[in-house]
Amino acid sequence: MSDTDAWGRICTDMKSTIGKEAYQSWIDPLALHKIEQGIAHFAAPTSFIGRWVDRNYGERIRSSFAREGYSVTRLDFSVSPAARKAATPAGQRSAPLNAPSAKTTAIAHAAEEELPGSPLDPRFTFDSFVVGKPNELAHAAARRVAEGGEVAFNPLVLYGGVGLGKTHLMHAIAWKLQQDNPGFRVLYLSAEQFMYRFVQALRFRDTISFKQMFRSVDVLMVDDVQFIAGKDSTQEEFFHTFNALIDQNKQVIISADRAPGEIDGMEDRIKSRLQWGLVADIHPTDYELRLGILQAKLDAQRAQHPNVTIDPKVIDFLAHRISSNVRVLEGALTRLYAFASLVGRHIDLDMTHECLTDLLRASERKVTIEEIMRKVAEYYHLRMNDLMSARRARVVARPRQVAMYLAKTLTSKSLPEIGRKFGGRDHTTVIHAVKRVEELKQTDSQIADDVELLRRMLEA
Ligand code: ADP
Ligand code: MG
Repeated sequence: MSDTDAWGRICTDMKSTIGKEAYQSWIDPLALHKIEQGIAHFAAPTSFIGRWVDRNYGERIRSSFAREGYSVTRLDFSVSPAARKAATPAGQRSAPLNAPSAKTTAIAHAAEEELPGSPLDPRFTFDSFVVGKPNELAHAAARRVAEGGEVAFNPLVLYGGVGLGKTHLMHAIAWKLQQDNPGFRVLYLSAEQFMYRFVQALRFRDTISFKQMFRSVDVLMVDDVQFIAGKDSTQEEFFHTFNALIDQNKQVIISADRAPGEIDGMEDRIKSRLQWGLVADIHPTDYELRLGILQAKLDAQRAQHPNVTIDPKVIDFLAHRISSNVRVLEGALTRLYAFASLVGRHIDLDMTHECLTDLLRASERKVTIEEIMRKVAEYYHLRMNDLMSARRARVVARPRQVAMYLAKTLTSKSLPEIGRKFGGRDHTTVIHAVKRVEELKQTDSQIADDVELLRRMLEA
């Protein structure tokens, strides 16, 4: 039994306990060199990763070694750009789809060695990003910035809710810039790490090199900047770094979970400076985008589970029913495939309900038919009674159909129930309305926008 075998088992175990994402970010990049006199020596691609692992997973790793029969009292990390390649015994690393080439990874890590950035996720590239109406602008802006060359807008601010692809786009920009411009200093980090770095610099009285380091990059990306709201000295430092880079015409890219102007606890001068460049928001996903993303993720799942089959209705159902958060959507698909391959079953709607009860309940919309009628009436300047009335004039009939369509797609009410609420109509009328609106959404952009706006207002 060798040290590396033991480490391999610990890795496998950690992957399931800390989750695949954390595993890939922190544990997978490590390579165990040797265990000697109670010290486990690792190579890590950056010293930051080493410190992070020690702080967050040190205890767990030591006790895992103890279970393997090794007495390890301390972990030691040396920086080695080759760590990633040597890492992971037994070839557990699966090649992700659309991953940048090994060459770019090496470049990224060579650059990371000096820069205290966060690791970039190899899956987050432009190739794997599905573009739709809700993220069109953010995507175009990200592409533009990733082209490099003349700085077109500075800063670029990407904002939007959780799980809508902000981090994905930022990593995609970083990969592309590094691929096209070896030697370019691209620094990507979360606002939390910016703060952590800054606090460390203060503690060790080393703010000069902190400042120099940040001011020496070609491109700075700070993810989830809302995190530093209310943290005064960090904000102050961020503001100066930010200004210094913009003054030097260096590209700055920022993400936040809401519009800069709406971040409570953020200094006004920062809010206003953030708005000097291009502010691009990522809207919640719509049905079409969710469908596109599911199709893309489906290919990956199929490659992994070639024996599992899926009913196309399930895809449609998920695109309708799972919330706008793409992470949840991906998680749902992954779970279905894992379950199906385990029990050797076809993925159908029954299994979906069975397997995703919790997700479906969480994203169950609490919207009522009354609310839908009220909003629709208000939107089209009608009275609620008009929607229940027998009037057939287009100005009333169309909004009524839109309301029925929304009732069908946003609530779990049955067709007869919906019919009853709309002045005791037959369920076939509801079916007709749903069909009609679906058709119109394809051909009439006004209707498509109306439906989308109403849906957003109702879900908000
Ligand atoms: P955010 O940073 O906005 O919270 P992330 O960028 O972390 O969201 O995205 C969450 C997950 O959803 C990631 O796995 C990401 O790859 C995926 N994702 C989000 N938007 C898209 C998209 N348009 N196409 C493909 N995958 C996406
Ligand atoms: Mg993010």
